[in-house]
Amino acid sequence: MSDDFDVVVIGAGMAGASIAAHLAATSRVGLLEMEDQPGYHSTGRSAAIFSESYGNGLIRDLTRASRPFFDAPPPGFTQAPLLKLRRVLHTARDQADLDAYLAITPPDERETKSIDEARALVPIIRPEGLLGAVLSLRPSDIDVDALHRGYLRRFQANGGELILDSPAYGLQRLGGAWTIETRRRRVRAPIVVNAAGAWAGEIAALAGAVDIGLQPLKRTAILLDPPPGVDVERWPMLKDAGEQYYLKPDAGKLLLSPCDEAPSPPGDAQADEMTVAIAVDRIEQATTLEVRRVSHRWAGLRSFVADRSPVVGFDPLQPGFFWLAALGGYGIQTAPALSRLAANLLTQSPLDPDLEALDLPPETLSPRRFILQPVPTALGSPMPRLGRPSP
Ligand SMILES: Cc1cc2nc3c(=O)[nH]c(=O)nc-3n(C[C@H](O)[C@H](O)[C@H](O)COP(=O)(O)OP(=O)(O)OC[C@H]3O[C@@H](n4cnc5c(N)ncnc54)[C@H](O)[C@@H]3O)c2cc1C
Repeated sequence: MSDDFDVVVIGAGMAGASIAAHLAATSRVGLLEMEDQPGYHSTGRSAAIFSESYGNGLIRDLTRASRPFFDAPPPGFTQAPLLKLRRVLHTARDQADLDAYLAITPPDERETKSIDEARALVPIIRPEGLLGAVLSLRPSDIDVDALHRGYLRRFQANGGELILDSPAYGLQRLGGAWTIETRRRRVRAPIVVNAAGAWAGEIAALAGAVDIGLQPLKRTAILLDPPPGVDVERWPMLKDAGEQYYLKPDAGKLLLSPCDEAPSPPGDAQADEMTVAIAVDRIEQATTLEVRRVSHRWAGLRSFVADRSPVVGFDPLQPGFFWLAALGGYGIQTAPALSRLAANLLTQSPLDPDLEALDLPPETLSPRRFILQPVPTALGSPMPRLGRPSP
């Protein structure tokens, strides 16, 4: 097999698989993955929720732009539906939390519920201290595996090569192309895509690309037994509007997360005892659920930059180094639109009309924003300054 590609993508999670699938239609693409299976890290650990009322405005736009793909994937992409309706019941103890949610959710996509109505939907809710509830009508469960496999299948059907068990540990630009060292092979391409999830900052440092200040944050999830004799499958997801916890039916169990965000180094994240105990305590305070045993626990990394928007585009310091990183807690629900957008930018093609219609300000996604940062001057007017690139 040739070691020369048009593009090498580093990381075969949702980001890498989805952009690689688009690029392979017109280019020779190698997809490098350090694990012996794709999707082992964040992509395989998500809560699998699609919500158009989650994240900042840019994330919500990208999520909405992804909806048509989820509702009607192209023929042959997957046998299974990608979305299954899973409404979200937001309960609030603080009016500001409820107002923040109402401000970003169109009125025809939500229904206000009294506390009694909320308890009719999820009977375990404790009413004490609750001041309101709103049912979000459009969120859905995502079949993450079907989406990820669909992209990988399309990638391979287009002639792309998935190279597993191959951590990239060296990147060098020589004679107009990147040489990427892996344990087994040395591969070359004029363009490299950094889709390494929590490791994207490390890959950038290897290449001498800009320091985007990527911070992986650990999020914990546990599986609990439902109350005896209760079929929870028809319950909506229950979410505290103040982000203290969410509880979601999951294949006959209940998936609970305390919405933790502990800064962590890139790695194989593990759930710790203390955070699991906090999660259990919060759900026992908010509901009548009695947690007797935790049947499964895990943690994953959600990687953010300071503005909590993704980083997509060519690096300002290193030619041919393209970013698709910092997908935070939204990398699954935004994948269809974000991967098309990334492929448009990488191939320097006009944006697809629906993406053009989003009218995104040019620097909102670009890694250039980490070089030209407006900082307040003594007089209060912002001035551009040069940021500090990584060594
Ligand atoms: C608990 C939890 C709940 C979440 N819930 C949701 C949700 O409901 N909805 C949603 O949209 N998102 C959710 N997310 C976020 C979502 O999972 C991520 O945004 C998404 O998976 C990021 O995809 P990625 O491809 O960037 O990262 P990853 O899936 O981590 O993929 C990066 C890949 O790069 C590989 N890699 C790293 N370094 C190298 C190297 N040197 N060489 C080769 N390969 C390398 C890694 O092995 C990995 O496979 C959640 C995340 C967590 C942790």
